[in-house]
Amino acid sequence: MKRRQFSLALAATGLAAPALAQAYPTKPISIIVPFAAGGPTDVMARIMGERMGRELAQQFIIDNTAGAAGTIAVGKLVRAAPDGYTIGIGHLGTNVVNGAIYRQLTFNVVDDLAPIARLPSNPMLVVTSNQVPANTLAELIAYLKANADKVSGGTAGVGSGSHIGALLFNKVTGTKYQLVPYRGTGPAIQDLIANQIQIMVDQSSNALPHVRAGKVRAYAVTAPRRSPAAPDIPTVAEAGAPGAEVAIWHGLWAPKGTPAAIVDRLNRAAVAALGDPEVRRKLEDLGQELPTPAEMAPAAFGAFQRAQFAQWKPIIDEANVKVE
Ligand code: ASP
Repeated sequence: MKRRQFSLALAATGLAAPALAQAYPTKPISIIVPFAAGGPTDVMARIMGERMGRELAQQFIIDNTAGAAGTIAVGKLVRAAPDGYTIGIGHLGTNVVNGAIYRQLTFNVVDDLAPIARLPSNPMLVVTSNQVPANTLAELIAYLKANADKVSGGTAGVGSGSHIGALLFNKVTGTKYQLVPYRGTGPAIQDLIANQIQIMVDQSSNALPHVRAGKVRAYAVTAPRRSPAAPDIPTVAEAGAPGAEVAIWHGLWAPKGTPAAIVDRLNRAAVAALGDPEVRRKLEDLGQELPTPAEMAPAAFGAFQRAQFAQWKPIIDEANVKVE
């Protein structure tokens, strides 16, 4: 049935948009996660999905579609039916930076999706395996310079948050080491603990639990201020690497064409989830900063994403990042 015939048929049944949204959701909602299970994006999806599921009285099913720093997942979301039963989570890397790096994409990371809600943001931590003989960031930089050919760093692929973090860190500190791409920084940090790789710059939400457990060592946080979740870790500026500040914000999107009433319903569920003190406590303990309900609104989030694209595009162009 053509789209117009379908809407006419729908109108004839009396199921206009408000009624549709009232009935929604009548079955589980799939949430596409662009990285492997266990990493920061996956953890955010699971925390949000569990709480939003309670809000909407339906289950959220996590679909980890990793690969190519999230571009495969975003493409899958763009092509999904715009009916509210498939949504996607992403971040600054997947839904802004990749649009500037992957020039061959058949979709536009900004224009071809409907923003649902902005989600929390967290800075990154510069962390190494416990085998790296450095106690401060200055010692680490000296070690990296002296051992450039022996050190490997983990990322979630070209354009991922951990890749952006590593690029900035290398630029500011004049260091360089081999970057190894993983399907997400969940698996990468396990290899860091095992010293298969030596360094990562990854979201605090992934690194902090392992820092607290003494399994990896943290040197600096890529934020202008220390994180209340880890007040002992100096900022990059304090530790001698000003200019390496970056925070990875997250968000939820639907395929373009998803009815506004459904996007609004999902937005309200996300706002309710982040209003829950238990959810807030969990996220803040991982170093996440929570957006306000006004910042989470679909239109405000869409404008924010667009502004972020305008801000990052020249930086990416100048860095001349190549996809290997
Ligand atoms: N934190 C990762 C990144 O570098 C992705 C992930 O595994 O969530 O973008």
